[in-house]
Amino acid sequence: MMAHFNPVTPELVADLKRVLSDKQVKTDEEYLTAYQTDEEGNSYYFHKPEVVVFPETTEQVADVVKLANQYLVPLTPRAAGSGVACGAIPVYHGIVVELERMNKVLTFDADNMYAVCQTGVRTSDLQEMARQHHLLYAGDPSSAESCQIGGNVANNAGGNKAVKYGTTRNQLYSLKVVTPTGEIVTAGARLQKSSTGLCLEQLFAGSEGTLGIITEVTVKLRPLPPYRFNVVCVFKSDEEAFALPNKILKAGIDPTSIEFMDNEALVMTTKFLSMPMPHVDEGADYVIVTVETFSQDDADRKMEQLCDLAEANGAVDVLDADERIWKLRKQFAEAARDVDKMFQTEDFVVPLDQIAAMTAQIPELREKYDLYCVTVAHIGDGNIHVLPLNAKGLSPEAWFEKIKAFHADLFPRVYALGGKMSGEHGIGYKKLEEFAKCTPAAELHVIKAIKKALDPNNIMNPGKLVDMTGDFVAD
Ligand SMILES: Cc1cc2nc3c(=O)[nH]c(=O)nc-3n(C[C@H](O)[C@H](O)[C@H](O)COP(=O)(O)OP(=O)(O)OC[C@H]3O[C@@H](n4cnc5c(N)ncnc54)[C@H](O)[C@@H]3O)c2cc1C
Repeated sequence: MMAHFNPVTPELVADLKRVLSDKQVKTDEEYLTAYQTDEEGNSYYFHKPEVVVFPETTEQVADVVKLANQYLVPLTPRAAGSGVACGAIPVYHGIVVELERMNKVLTFDADNMYAVCQTGVRTSDLQEMARQHHLLYAGDPSSAESCQIGGNVANNAGGNKAVKYGTTRNQLYSLKVVTPTGEIVTAGARLQKSSTGLCLEQLFAGSEGTLGIITEVTVKLRPLPPYRFNVVCVFKSDEEAFALPNKILKAGIDPTSIEFMDNEALVMTTKFLSMPMPHVDEGADYVIVTVETFSQDDADRKMEQLCDLAEANGAVDVLDADERIWKLRKQFAEAARDVDKMFQTEDFVVPLDQIAAMTAQIPELREKYDLYCVTVAHIGDGNIHVLPLNAKGLSPEAWFEKIKAFHADLFPRVYALGGKMSGEHGIGYKKLEEFAKCTPAAELHVIKAIKKALDPNNIMNPGKLVDMTGDFVAD
């Protein structure tokens, strides 16, 4: 790497201990090794930090950021490290800012339906707190048991309720952010509308820690629908399965989620969980639809409507499913990891009417690059996760090269159909190069201009999303 950052010195470590405390600053090898990666399993991407800090307040985060500027040392914000784009890997070493100790819900106002959370609140804890008050926090990545609200905002996480409620950015009222130069900014407000200046909270959401460190998040809560059903529509043909979401949405059924698992994903996950499911051994795909409503009559009517629609569109069976179906869907990544710890997660997103056109190209790509792939999809959002597995046991570097060639072929096809390379996981370090190649020059220029204006020393998560160092130059 060519970037000219300074190494972490004993003087900087002493200054960090002065603004934090001894216990909040770690240089021991066990910490440096633990923070060399996030969810990434391919050692080719690993980079160790030189120091890991554990701030407990917004002011402490600001002090750390000011020191990083003073010493010209890069910073990598980190929440739970469940990201799959290498976003929390400190590719230029320096300081990892681990936010897990900022884990308190500061305000929970059930009457006015909002909560103010420190960045490190675990997503499932907020979901559970809302449930206890008969409310819903609608952000719902499959990793909710481990990931944090701040990490979800930074990546604009999607997940399983995005069809109805949108992604994490749609759950936000406001954010408290420490900018790359150490100022503390409140972006947004607890308002139903605002036409007052730039929408900064939405700029920070999805910026992957490159524009600042989020320290507080004020989220919307919603009424919790008391009636819910899950239906599994069983298909023998991918094309018929992929045509269903648009029809469900057009029929006004208003589903909370529409998920897809192909047969290979079903075989892998049912085996991992030792949980046999109907029609899996007959080569079937599943489209899983969840509907939540406020009356039993509405639920019954929608269930009937959905069954009719699925059958009319080629489903060979429609099953009234219980929560086991969500165990199957949510454990899919663990099942993949059990087969191959270096598995790659593609995350492209296409318009709903282009899902079939895009996925029809996958068999050709699989053959061309000699890849074994399984597919799941947030199909109601057009967001497809194709997972190439390193079934042939290639070395980390050879696997990296194979995926690079695969991406160079895959992403132009996605963009040609009006899609983008990431629906929810972000660009991180992993797709930096492809992002620069696929993004029009004028758009890239705007992104870089914003980054440069906010982060003149390029210390905030450098090497992610856009390259500002000149290490990588797109053609
Ligand atoms: C089993 C599994 C299932 C998953 N399912 C989904 C899913 O359904 N939908 C989905 O969208 N994702 C999913 N993911 C990916 C991942 O969980 C999400 O991207 C999640 O939002 C990351 O949160 P985190 O707390 O782990 O953040 P991290 O991985 O620690 O960080 C993610 C990024 O955000 C930055 N960051 C973290 N905290 C802050 C902060 N406070 N301020 C500024 N920047 C920050 C980091 O630098 C990094 O770039 C899944 C991952 C796994 C392992």
